[in-house]
Amino acid sequence: MKPIILDGKALSLTIEEELKERVLKIKEKSGITPILATIIVGDNPASVTYVRMKGNACKRVGMEPLKVELPEETTTEELLAVIDKLNADDRVCGILLQHPVPRQIDERECFNRVSMEKDVDGTNISSFGATTMGQDAYKCATPAGIMEIIRRYNIETVGKHAVVIGRSPILGKPVAMLLLNAHATVTICHSRTQNLADIVKQADIVVAAVGIPRFVQASWIKKGAVLIDAGYNEGNVGDIDLENCAPLSSAYTPVPGGVGPMTIAMLMSQTVDSAEKTYM
Ligand code: NAP
Repeated sequence: MKPIILDGKALSLTIEEELKERVLKIKEKSGITPILATIIVGDNPASVTYVRMKGNACKRVGMEPLKVELPEETTTEELLAVIDKLNADDRVCGILLQHPVPRQIDERECFNRVSMEKDVDGTNISSFGATTMGQDAYKCATPAGIMEIIRRYNIETVGKHAVVIGRSPILGKPVAMLLLNAHATVTICHSRTQNLADIVKQADIVVAAVGIPRFVQASWIKKGAVLIDAGYNEGNVGDIDLENCAPLSSAYTPVPGGVGPMTIAMLMSQTVDSAEKTYM
């Protein structure tokens, strides 16, 4: 049977339509346009593009983007002061610190300074802890996007073996916890994992979050597995060799147009959640 294409782009457009309605209701009731603040430190071209895309999505759903641009030489203390100011600003419903920040900055300390109520990108360690324990908190946007694809396409997770390749704080680890909470049996692999191919071969669901173009090979894939490619590398290629792996799968996310657009949709969705909590 032909594999199903898990169309994150189309899903993200559906979600945006839902969000527009919700933002309209917030504006009607409170007279306030919710703000999503994005902080960018330095001028990394990829980060500049991501922040612009997030700002545009914000406008499309009727919210106001607030871009805070800081120079490359910003210190941790200066960045913390900016976050404190945004935390205290009532109109700001969400705060996103664009990753990565320059080396001299303690990124973890800055992520943790974003108040949990405004942590719509789910990078605060307390948000991660609460989410892991199954409590209500904002989730990391890319893992949330992956779970939303799984939910909206009715992909079974209960009792399934999910193999996550990658253990980064923003992707591999949180998506593994979300899959565990969805009752999958989860294996997390990383650069020190031995016999990676054999482990992936057992997976009903493969999540690739490695950062190496076309890393996952067709010979590693069990027939009928669901393939989620979170990777995004130069030349619009993911972390799975989709050309050869996809035909073996029952469903897969394309690159581009899979996980990427859902990341932004989840950021918008969680900002609207936060705005509703404040104004409705
Ligand atoms: P990262 O922080 O560099 O983490 C990469 C992970 O892959 C690490 O845990 C690393 O293991 C593991 N790894 C590296 N080489 C490996 C190997 N040979 N075998 C097994 N595991 C290996 O990357 P990230 O931020 O999680 O991003 C991963 C990918 O997702 C990238 O392609 C990135 O562009 C993409 N991404 C996409 C979105 C989106 O919105 N679509 C958002 C974020 C990231 P160790 O921990 O042992 O080093």
